[in-house]
Amino acid sequence: EQKVLSDLEIAHNATMLPIEQIAERAGIAVDALELYGPYKAKINPAKLRLPQGKKPGKVVLVSAMSPTPAGEGKSTTTVGLADSLARAGNNVMIALREPSLGPILGMKGGATGGGYSQVLPMDDINLHFTGDFHAVTSANNALMALVDNHIFQGNALGIDPRRMTFKRVLDMNDRALREVVIGLGGPTQGVPRQDGFDITVASEIMAVFCLSTDLDDLRSRLGRITFGYTFDRAPVTVADLGVEGALTMLLKDAIKPNLVQTIAGTPALVHGGPFANIAHGCNSLIATRTAMELADIVVTEAGFGADLGAEKYMDIKARIADVAPSAVVVVATIRALKMQGGVPKDQLDQPNVEAVAAGVENLKRHVGNVAKFGIAPVVSINKFATDTPEELEWLLAWCAAEGVDAAVADVWGRGGGGDGGDELATKVAAALARPSDFHHLYPLELSVEEKIQTIVQEIYGADGVDFSVPALKRLAEIEKNGWSGLPVCMAKTQYSFTDDASRLGAPKGFKVHVRDLIPKTGAGFIVALTGAVMTMPGLPKEPAAMRMDVDSEGNPTGLF
Ligand code: ADP
Repeated sequence: EQKVLSDLEIAHNATMLPIEQIAERAGIAVDALELYGPYKAKINPAKLRLPQGKKPGKVVLVSAMSPTPAGEGKSTTTVGLADSLARAGNNVMIALREPSLGPILGMKGGATGGGYSQVLPMDDINLHFTGDFHAVTSANNALMALVDNHIFQGNALGIDPRRMTFKRVLDMNDRALREVVIGLGGPTQGVPRQDGFDITVASEIMAVFCLSTDLDDLRSRLGRITFGYTFDRAPVTVADLGVEGALTMLLKDAIKPNLVQTIAGTPALVHGGPFANIAHGCNSLIATRTAMELADIVVTEAGFGADLGAEKYMDIKARIADVAPSAVVVVATIRALKMQGGVPKDQLDQPNVEAVAAGVENLKRHVGNVAKFGIAPVVSINKFATDTPEELEWLLAWCAAEGVDAAVADVWGRGGGGDGGDELATKVAAALARPSDFHHLYPLELSVEEKIQTIVQEIYGADGVDFSVPALKRLAEIEKNGWSGLPVCMAKTQYSFTDDASRLGAPKGFKVHVRDLIPKTGAGFIVALTGAVMTMPGLPKEPAAMRMDVDSEGNPTGLF
């Protein structure tokens, strides 16, 4: 029997081209390249010489059914589909998020695809890459140091230390830092107050970074961040403190997109990485727009299920600039369908068409949701070695009966550069050629309460929303401060359409509980916190870190 190679082994066996060659392939001028070693480069959008009269590329958004621990393979599909589209002769570019270190050491695995559909160098990208997350962390923590110093130095702005809405961040799953007390030790050590840490990918700076259109827009958005309230309950912004220039300076290099390549040599921009459950969940707008300017087709991914990442892509990101998708792919797996149909994780390898049929309700709701944005999705069935022909046939027949385009893709096993994704690429190309009628789910004129109700009823399938008493107070505050026109960024568990991670499938007859609302006036959305979703995750009992090491030449092992 042939040994199944790990993602890392496959990545190490692959031959990379010098990044200058990939840049040339993508039409990037040499003087726009800033090299980070032989295989990574930042590109300076200001120095790109774009082809005269070229139309912006069309966007394919890759999303999925509700995630399960069985794994769906959105990144794998994104990379494999782009390779397959390139193989068919299209001018393609990928726009992906950068992985966060916390989940990598925890349990999630890398975020660079898998099998023969990966972006390279996968170990670099999954570790410190070009330092963007370090820059975001530094900008965030610089702001907090400046705020606490302002309070210490006499607090001219009258910042109420009990009403801070901004926290320090770290790119690590570290539950011990969720709640801390700072400034202890006497009058020379600062002013004591309760504080806490979020994970970097949950920070508003990361969201601002990913939604800015250019450096000037980055500065204005940073200036608009509300980090707390005064003793008179007036919002205080970064511009009130006068430090948006310094924060922009700390981000000036990070904001340039990172160019890398897939195993098959397709150019990919990997840039920015907000979580999709607690933030908006897609790569930087600058990377998406740059890829659209360079290529004819851009394949990009929105995190977690279509209820989270895709909804936010359409209702938040696609309002800031014209990045509306022309096609949407919903990734499904037989294993995940079985889990949605009630099969426990340790029995997913056993053939079970009935469970697939029971779990398909979850996929059906996601497919219907995408259609609500005016786009008929293509279902990509990510093939696992354990899938039986009967199960795959059943799912294809179900899709056909529902009138949904679908293809089985083996881009993990055979690679998009091989023939694993040819059929998917053909279906996606056909979808791109059809006219779409993209629209947002809700108009911004609705009140924040109505916007939340719309998302919850239309996308999650809930009966309505329960607002906690603090959340109701926040709604009034949002109204008073003139923030009602902002879109909503739902913070919800990725595992369920409900706010209870254990309710799988397509539940009916439930309400969503909004416990708090946090205005992110720099990013330009209101976060609605539901259920018990965390902005600082913890590590599992047996963290993936326990399997990791490096050999004596410095090559990582055990990084998936
Ligand atoms: P997502 O983007 O949905 O989180 P990824 O594409 O990152 O998922 O894949 C998660 C993990 O599952 C990766 O380690 C990848 O190698 C593995 N994986 C994905 N597709 C397959 C497949 N068809 N067969 C086996 N493993 C797979």
